[in-house]
Amino acid sequence: QPARRPLMAGNWKMNLNHLEANLLVQKLAASLNEQQLSDVEVVVLPPFTDIRTVQTLVDGDKLLLGYGAQDLSPHPKGAYTGDISGTMLAKLGCQYVVVGHSERRQYHNEDDALVNIKVKAAFTHELAPIMCIGEGLEIREAGEHVPFVIAQLDAGLAGLTPAQVEKVVVAYEPVWAIGTGKTATPQDAQEVCGAIRQRIAEKFGESTAEVVRVLYGGSVKAANVASIMAQPDVDGALVGGASIDAEEFVQICRFPE
Ligand code: PEP
Repeated sequence: QPARRPLMAGNWKMNLNHLEANLLVQKLAASLNEQQLSDVEVVVLPPFTDIRTVQTLVDGDKLLLGYGAQDLSPHPKGAYTGDISGTMLAKLGCQYVVVGHSERRQYHNEDDALVNIKVKAAFTHELAPIMCIGEGLEIREAGEHVPFVIAQLDAGLAGLTPAQVEKVVVAYEPVWAIGTGKTATPQDAQEVCGAIRQRIAEKFGESTAEVVRVLYGGSVKAANVASIMAQPDVDGALVGGASIDAEEFVQICRFPE
């Protein structure tokens, strides 16, 4: 079974001003350098306005600390006031872009069809999409979470080739666990992440499913990351709140120790 390199991605959301972003990246880069975390990929996802800062600081050290954006426009350019295109993100050296975060789905009415278009837009600009899927509390309580998440997965990946799917990072983020302090149990995370991988195998082939990275997200902290990462189908974490605290995030990235 080919090894999937663990990925720890820090979603800063709409936090940190320019000076705070500057400080956080410097702290992260310094401690990651010391720790030589060659077996874990670490990525930060700043607001658009901080990407240039992060690019300048990270410079040639993307292997140490990668970065990406939290969203992109479905369009490459044009009259879309306030939007940011994949072209712009690629020019800033982004490697990743989050697509379909539950906060985008909730506050900007993004649906699965738009998520699919954005995933394809990411590929146009050679950005790896971190595609977020996950159920709300009512669906979880009704026991419908697996079929719900699989339907989101199918819609988000519709029309992609297996070679593209290999580069997608799927983030399973149960909405009831995001920013609430309620973490899914490691078994809950494994149940859905395993079902995601199985579905990818059915639709795109075993070999594709073996290399796709599936992350868990939802109140991940240093104190709970190890048990989540111990699950066979969890390949990393999408971390919100805990990612803007340098020490906490570095501890999360050190989960194997
Ligand atoms: C997220 O925003 O993707 C997230 C998982 O947030 P938190 O870690 O704060 O729950």
